[in-house]
Amino acid sequence: MFGRAPKKSDNTRYYNVLGVSQTASQDELKKAYRKLAIKNHPDKGGDPEKFKEISQAYDVLSDPEKRDLYDQYGEDALKEGMGGGGASHNPFDIFESFFGGGGQSFGGGSGRGNRRQRRGEDVVHPLKVSLEDLYNGTSKKLSLSRNVLCSKCKGTGSKTGASGRCVGCQGSGMKVSIRQLGPNMIQQMQHVCTDCKGSGEVINEKDKCGQCKGQKVVQDKKTLEVHVEKGMQHGQKITFQGEADEAPDTETGDIVFVLQLKDHPKFKRKGDDLFVQHSLTLTEALCGFQFPLTHLDGRQLLIKCIPGEIIKPGQCKAINDEGMPHYQRPFMKGRLYLQFSIDFPETGSISPEQCKAIEAILPPRPSSATTDMDLDECEETTLLDVNLEDEMKRKQRQQQEAYEEDDESSGPRVQCAQQ
Ligand SMILES: [Zn+2]
Ligand SMILES: [Zn+2]
Repeated sequence: MFGRAPKKSDNTRYYNVLGVSQTASQDELKKAYRKLAIKNHPDKGGDPEKFKEISQAYDVLSDPEKRDLYDQYGEDALKEGMGGGGASHNPFDIFESFFGGGGQSFGGGSGRGNRRQRRGEDVVHPLKVSLEDLYNGTSKKLSLSRNVLCSKCKGTGSKTGASGRCVGCQGSGMKVSIRQLGPNMIQQMQHVCTDCKGSGEVINEKDKCGQCKGQKVVQDKKTLEVHVEKGMQHGQKITFQGEADEAPDTETGDIVFVLQLKDHPKFKRKGDDLFVQHSLTLTEALCGFQFPLTHLDGRQLLIKCIPGEIIKPGQCKAINDEGMPHYQRPFMKGRLYLQFSIDFPETGSISPEQCKAIEAILPPRPSSATTDMDLDECEETTLLDVNLEDEMKRKQRQQQEAYEEDDESSGPRVQCAQQ
């Protein structure tokens, strides 16, 4: 199907532009180009169109590959390549493989020759891990099914080893269709041959391998043991090279596991540090505390502070070397941070007598509150219990309603002022 160029066109124009013969050497071309380029350079008052034409001609003829193409198929082949159908990336590679390369240059083919191997796709799996897994390290066995080359036919798909060249694509695995877009424009579309699914060959029904039915690959179950090392991070990749789906004439891709850290109910991780929130009663905050904390490896840590030390709401404390192990240096560990919140007693749970007792211990009230010299002149107020969040929402709703009313009457709102 592809022995000839789609359209025989003029292949002398570039030579004429440069004023050389079709047998001109590279040296002659260079000389001719220089002379014309200087003469026609737009900076020196030359015609830009003419100059462009000269450059274009030289660009093609100075490149042996392009010149070859041009000599054989004329400008159309090159124009097409430059102007481009959407499917081809490098037009010259494709043309070379079809016209100049002399046979199969890509596609699955027979497995012989010096074709580059395709690289199979990597298969990526998320792998859920707990913080305990990352702290202690673990290994997980995962069973995956994948394609492997058929052992019976060694991936040829054929009983006898014989296979025929696909007629549809002449063994290239790819089909090219040409569309004429205009008098000097053709578009080339390249697509995988549907007859052979890109392999470039067909196997007769009677020759097909009994095990893989001519598919060349069979499904296989494989168990992989994934070693999650101490200190690994969320998002870290563990790669099994060449364990993805096998395919003929293809370098097998990798299986890649990406670690996905599950939330932990107690510990949060930041780099090599761990964070724990702990709430203390007011008594603990004021009078000291101790409590056991179960670490990620099951050890019980005794967390304590000296009696008499006062812990304030939001205060942080840290313990060295109880954070996460460093990746690949697990004997080094980060810090364990403890952030404290304080649970205050419910209102009304302290009697007036108890208040007196507490006051006797705690630092005295600020002086302004205890001097009663000006109190008589103050106005009495009442403190209401409020929930600030609810309050804000109520305000917003009121405003919204007022706005909508305004919208209706479009008059000024004066009721409030009248009261
Ligand atoms: Zn087989
Ligand atoms: Zn084919």
